[in-house]
Amino acid sequence: MPIRVLDPQLAAKIAAGEVIERPASVVKELLDNAIDAGATHIRVEARAGGLSLMRVTDDGSGIPAAEIELAFARHATSKLQSVQDLAAIRSLGFRGEALHAIAAVAQVTIISKTAGEAAATMLHFEGGSVTQRTSRGAPDGTAILVENLFATVPARLKFLKSPAAETGRIGDVAAQYALAHPGIQISLIVDGRLSFQSTGSGKLEDVLVKVLGVDTARGMMPVQPAEEAQDVRGGESKVRVEGFISQPAVTRSTRSYMSFFVNSRWVQSRMLVYALEEAYHTLLQVGRRPLAVLNIQVPYDEVDVNVHPAKSEVRFLRERDVFVAVQKAVRGALVDAAGIPLAASYPGAAAPAAPARWQPPAPSGAEPAPYQPALAPWRPPQVAVSALPPAEPARSSAGQAASATKLPPLRILGQAALTYIIAESPEGVYLIDQHTAHERIIYEKLKAEYARLAVSSQGMLEPQAVEVTPRQAALLGVHGQELADLGFQIEPFGPSSMLVRAVPAILAGQNVGQALAEILDDMTDESGGLAPQAWQEALITTVTCHSAVRAGQSLTFDEMRQLVLQLEQTTLPRTCPHGRPTMILLSQAQLEKEFGRR
Ligand code: ADP
Ligand code: MG
Repeated sequence: MPIRVLDPQLAAKIAAGEVIERPASVVKELLDNAIDAGATHIRVEARAGGLSLMRVTDDGSGIPAAEIELAFARHATSKLQSVQDLAAIRSLGFRGEALHAIAAVAQVTIISKTAGEAAATMLHFEGGSVTQRTSRGAPDGTAILVENLFATVPARLKFLKSPAAETGRIGDVAAQYALAHPGIQISLIVDGRLSFQSTGSGKLEDVLVKVLGVDTARGMMPVQPAEEAQDVRGGESKVRVEGFISQPAVTRSTRSYMSFFVNSRWVQSRMLVYALEEAYHTLLQVGRRPLAVLNIQVPYDEVDVNVHPAKSEVRFLRERDVFVAVQKAVRGALVDAAGIPLAASYPGAAAPAAPARWQPPAPSGAEPAPYQPALAPWRPPQVAVSALPPAEPARSSAGQAASATKLPPLRILGQAALTYIIAESPEGVYLIDQHTAHERIIYEKLKAEYARLAVSSQGMLEPQAVEVTPRQAALLGVHGQELADLGFQIEPFGPSSMLVRAVPAILAGQNVGQALAEILDDMTDESGGLAPQAWQEALITTVTCHSAVRAGQSLTFDEMRQLVLQLEQTTLPRTCPHGRPTMILLSQAQLEKEFGRR
């Protein structure tokens, strides 16, 4: 093919691809513009995952009638004049690309009015050009309607997920912007229903309650900017870190509950994630992640926001200072607050349940703490093992040689550290991890039942309302069938909750709300690339993990016996579904050697 300059319409579509990747990108850009225009109330609407319609309405400054066409020209902006300006950007937008890009890949209608104008101006764009211009009555501010996104860009449509998944991303953007701007009321209307609304009170706590739900918000504690923070060179730090982080007892299995804002701009940053996780070092179990909403204020001229087309990444002039500031602020909050739940003051929140007291870890280098039962408080088992169906008689005949995966007959001796079952066999002494062992049992049972679509479900005595984030709600839409096959019976209940009527029998008696939220979170991460089978597997594993007895639960002899009996029946008794060992063996030979008997 000979070289030729691209047709301008095609070139515009290609350029738009960098900025507008999916429906949520449109919402993000329009929110940026509304906030830059000084809006205090912003309404976001989406239909069919944003593909048929999205509309963002604000009460900001509006665009003067004479400038509206210009606003849609490429590289047209009111936010930047000179190269000097580029070095210290205060607005969210500055590239002058968004409106042009959106109009290149969708039909756009804008209605805008400034305070000084008598009437609003309405413009309609098709294929990037104005096809209609009228004047009409409308309140001050701007409304931008985006229809049939990507209808003319099949290459892009192909890569989108289901409407429910795209709606979930839009919900996520709305929630993140609400967290970044607690003083602005942001409402999200999905398919005609109000799905999320922040109060605009200016208090981050209020937004936290809306985004995370009262229960989780109650488990968050404030991070305050240090009075006299110092930077790495001992000078006064110019970095201020403020927001909320979770108590160590409140965790998630994904990182999707970490929000970072730099000068109120929502950003993605591995460095910030790392700084946060470092601060929690040794406080969380492997694989568990803290929740955080942190705004990092950095002098405008010390952060480069012009490194990503969607402006979602930034570069810091003094990265090390920022890292240290975040890590210190978080660590400081963890040590100071030591687990005192702040949210007793939340409006409408019931008195917090007995706070799970968190002990600061012993300074490194100190003697390992002696075993103190008080640190692992006894809790009645959430699932009584004896309540499980009695084990069936062993399948293998007694005379058959035990295969490497099979267990020898075990005699229970007791429980150690409320976590390990001690048992003996002719081979030696076994220490069995009660949680991983129970996981193995449940996993095999659940998997077999799921394959036959015969998972036993148990109705709840009283249906339980569970708060869900917009993203979780969207996922329930996508994965509803699989959840139903696993024994869940869930229905929508109000704008931000679900009513759980039945759960897999194996989960009965558990904290259903928390289990469901975590299961949905796991699916959030998985729903991307995983084949249906892979994530059904992930789903079963997650439900299993939530159903199994925990470490720290006291078990009776009978419960331990039942557990071990059932473990003997499984096909792979020596590992849990995650691949961790369920048991270790101290062989006779090892014991004899250790005691110098040989
Ligand atoms: P940028 O935000 O980078 O300047 P955009 O293409 O998003 O570029 O917008 C172009 C210009 O249109 C903005 O600089 C601003 O002057 C104007 N504009 C866009 N949206 C709004 C709005 N909601 N309210 C007021 N002005 C707006
Ligand atoms: Mg913009």
